[in-house]
Amino acid sequence: MALNRQRIADATRELADRAIVAARALTNGGAGIDGHQVVVDRVAYAATEARAITELAAAPAVLAEIAGVAAAELAAAIPYRLAPIAALLELGDLRYPDAVAAEIAAGLAPAAVEAIGATAIAAGTPAWPLDEMLAEVRANVRAFAEREVAPHAERIHHHDELVPERVISEMSKLGYFGLSIPESYGGTELGNLAMILTTEELSRASLAGGGSLITRPEILAKALLAGGTEEQKQTWLPRLASGEIMAAISVTEPNVGSDVASLTCKAERVDGGWAITGAKAWCTFAGRADVIALLARTGGGGARGLTLFIVDKPRFLGHDFDAAQPGGGTLTGKADRTPGYRGMHSFTLAFENWRVPDAQLVGGEAGIGRGFALQMAGFAAGRLQTGGRACGLAQAAVDHTARYVGERTQFGRPIGDYGLTRYHLGRMVSRLTAARGITYAGARAFDDHAADAVTLAAMSKLFACDVAVEVTQLGQLLHGGWGYAEEYPISRYVADAQVLPIFEGVKPILALKVIGRGLLARAAPM
Ligand SMILES: Cc1cc2nc3c(=O)[nH]c(=O)nc-3n(C[C@H](O)[C@H](O)[C@H](O)COP(=O)(O)OP(=O)(O)OC[C@H]3O[C@@H](n4cnc5c(N)ncnc54)[C@H](O)[C@@H]3O)c2cc1C
Repeated sequence: MALNRQRIADATRELADRAIVAARALTNGGAGIDGHQVVVDRVAYAATEARAITELAAAPAVLAEIAGVAAAELAAAIPYRLAPIAALLELGDLRYPDAVAAEIAAGLAPAAVEAIGATAIAAGTPAWPLDEMLAEVRANVRAFAEREVAPHAERIHHHDELVPERVISEMSKLGYFGLSIPESYGGTELGNLAMILTTEELSRASLAGGGSLITRPEILAKALLAGGTEEQKQTWLPRLASGEIMAAISVTEPNVGSDVASLTCKAERVDGGWAITGAKAWCTFAGRADVIALLARTGGGGARGLTLFIVDKPRFLGHDFDAAQPGGGTLTGKADRTPGYRGMHSFTLAFENWRVPDAQLVGGEAGIGRGFALQMAGFAAGRLQTGGRACGLAQAAVDHTARYVGERTQFGRPIGDYGLTRYHLGRMVSRLTAARGITYAGARAFDDHAADAVTLAAMSKLFACDVAVEVTQLGQLLHGGWGYAEEYPISRYVADAQVLPIFEGVKPILALKVIGRGLLARAAPM
């Protein structure tokens, strides 16, 4: 039965908009977010869910059943999300009109959800329809990822190895690093949706053994496009697009994470350039990277004292390294061990008088003090890309679980024959479809330079990463004890998914300071 998704979308939007308007008044247009954190967190999440439903309403007809079920589940959750703050915001009655409630009830019916699970077991999950060019991108990357990335995924994870060089060189040849970089700067300019599809397929094979390679070039490229000088764009973008150089991103420090404006690593003027001194933490891929996009303090306190640099360094393939410059500068790095996301290696770094030429201050002299804004422009793109990573990982969990429950027999029947298994699997598929809908919308918003692109990218990241955590854990549950065995990839997916809500703005900060602020400072509801 096809639900009236638009009717559900309109009703949830109305509810979310009411909450946004009231929260805007309560927080004085977002200025007082910290005085009302729980309110803002809940409003941001409800608005994100309502936006996901809007995208589900627009999903192609072939996905109608799944999108209806996904929309119904999200719609049912929104009043519960808002209930604790309803009185504070004077939201009044949170119930939907009867006709909408009936649509939602139909979508929540076990039979509707089970049917999706049954189809996934019998025939896999339907692909999201795309135009010819994008469908070709997806098919080509899928074949590449299955051939070049998937065979290494388990070994990389179990032995904490680095991404194989061949994966990087083959991705370079195929132009995967330049998908959203303009042609005039050496990219293929296929757009952000092509970049997301590529990311998804690579992440489906391995989050850290392929799917996360595009993140860093994306962040640096978008920061350069936002504020690099023309000469810097011409120097760095073609090299990023071709994969000639790999980048790492260094913002976080041992004692500074979410509060980026209080960074302490400093850059001081020296003859011909700058000297970097200080500690950094969690710098992913810093060993293999040729350059580090580094945010450092060049001036007084706060965000206005921060400047972005492109810092050269030699390549190292191990878990720790020491580098020295002829002028006496030193850089040491040590990878921190993690339960998942292996293959990229995230480093604690110590810089001591490490030299960077003037030409590598992003934006030139005019870029001094603009680093925070440029970094945030880069992160906006990184978050969108992470929405794609989350969808790819969740898809891998769905694929493996659908296969497993079709084969595993208990009580004389395949466990996929049981209604509850089908129900759980159906939810996995529908949640993933919702994550994909909002992530693709984010990509299109970036391509169209839409006013809400940054907020939408943050919403995709928030939502899709939660979905990846939930879907991988459900998949593990359906594998029973074998889901906990390293022998089965689902245990890797669970370990990998845990990191997604943490980086590029840990989930509570993303909801409060990016989505909340974006929504509450807006003149009209999103
Ligand atoms: C595997 C991995 C890879 C990473 N890669 C990179 C990278 O390549 N480059 C890079 O720069 N960073 C990277 N990071 C760092 C990551 O971006 C940070 O961990 C993240 O931004 C959160 O910072 P934090 O860990 O210091 O947490 P904190 O900022 O200490 O936050 C911890 C918790 O405190 C609470 N909290 C903090 N502030 C507030 C507030 N104002 N209001 C309410 N609650 C609050 C929240 O609950 C939050 O979840 C990586 C991290 C990991 C784990």
